[in-house]
Amino acid sequence: MEKKLRPASLCVRAGWSPKNGEPVEPPIIQSTTFKYDDSDEMAMLFDLKKEGYFYTRLQNPTNDAVAAKIAALEGGVGAVLTSSGQAANFYAVFNICEAGDHIVASNEIYGGTFNLFGVTLKKLGIECTFVNPEAGDDEIQKAFRPNTKVMFGETISNPGCKVLDIERFARLAHSNGVPLIVDNTFATPVNCRPFEWGADIVTHSTTKYMDGHATQVGGCVVDSGRFDWMAHADRYPGLCRPDESYHGLVYAEAFGKMAYTTKLVAQLMRDLGSIPAPMNAFLLNIGLQTLHLRMRQHCANAQTVAEFLNGDPRVAWVNYPGLKGNEYHELAEKYLPDGSCGVIAFGLKGNRDTAIKFMDSLKMINIVTHVADARTCVLHPASHTHRQLSDEQLREAGIAPDLIRLSVGIEDVEDILDDIRQALDKI
Ligand SMILES: *Cc1c(COP(=O)(O)O)cnc(C)c1O
Repeated sequence: MEKKLRPASLCVRAGWSPKNGEPVEPPIIQSTTFKYDDSDEMAMLFDLKKEGYFYTRLQNPTNDAVAAKIAALEGGVGAVLTSSGQAANFYAVFNICEAGDHIVASNEIYGGTFNLFGVTLKKLGIECTFVNPEAGDDEIQKAFRPNTKVMFGETISNPGCKVLDIERFARLAHSNGVPLIVDNTFATPVNCRPFEWGADIVTHSTTKYMDGHATQVGGCVVDSGRFDWMAHADRYPGLCRPDESYHGLVYAEAFGKMAYTTKLVAQLMRDLGSIPAPMNAFLLNIGLQTLHLRMRQHCANAQTVAEFLNGDPRVAWVNYPGLKGNEYHELAEKYLPDGSCGVIAFGLKGNRDTAIKFMDSLKMINIVTHVADARTCVLHPASHTHRQLSDEQLREAGIAPDLIRLSVGIEDVEDILDDIRQALDKI
């Protein structure tokens, strides 16, 4: 049934089909464990020979229903919820990389991911080369090494609002025999489905638009099921060679298109355990039910606000892919024909203090370390989220010191504009 529904209907209905007399909302199965009458049956579950629930660190019915909704929205074969977006990106990469391996990532990515790849993965023996996504193919090609296992980018970058040329990145990844992972947090599958453009794995911080109400921190990893691991068996021994921790099971042989997802659950969740509470999955699902409506309003409001900022003489620059003449407008028309997202990056004429004065003068709009929420909010990455990065790293990550990230919410756009106008008058 789910395959035939359109994205808006999938937001409302996918992942949970109640049978006669069952609840219409997926119930919150807030239980660590599940009871079996017979010990053999439990043994089969542990051997991955039978499907079933036994411990929530591995699988939980509430979490699985919500993961199935996101898989349906992205057009994937399987999805796993994680306890945060950070965990999702870590698992997505670590599922196919180990010490001695290398990854290639766009430098236009979220600060937390930049740090995860550049600093923390390095401590685990995985090296990352960051590439400028605007560089030519030859330049990007130089970043690949024989031990490269993954290429990574963001559909719309946080906070720069730059649009990734997904098809080009997929072509570069595939010509090097590695999968492309795309963090689709800002666009959401309502506005872009990276699998349709060749991406192999999609990740999300569900904390953002998918939740939309600032109620839970969560993440998701979705697999398209399309990357042929066995065609590169030497490169992906974790999927294509026997897993000693599972009696010599070979994931790619035993699970086919579900190999990547099964390994992620059976190995990474088992050993590292970043699962969301079922209660959080339930809250996320309530957000997902209106995702399509909210995205439409976020995009319409952001377009109006971006046009206003663009026409104001106190504003130095505005980056919003919906603006005609924007550097990324053409890519946005291709990948995001129904709208991009509610986030606008802009700078004010003046210095760092001008940005701070502007933000401190806002009355309705909140200063928060959050983005992609129903409430309009604002943040200055150089003094907040990215403060651990040096000026050079900031520039490397494509973040101007004066960049203000304005996340346009779904209030009446006139109230958003009024607040911005009165704050601009105070600088
Ligand atoms: C917020 C964010 C993350 C990290 O997600 P958390 O849920 O905060 O851990 C990763 N990628 C992008 C694009 C984000 O915006």
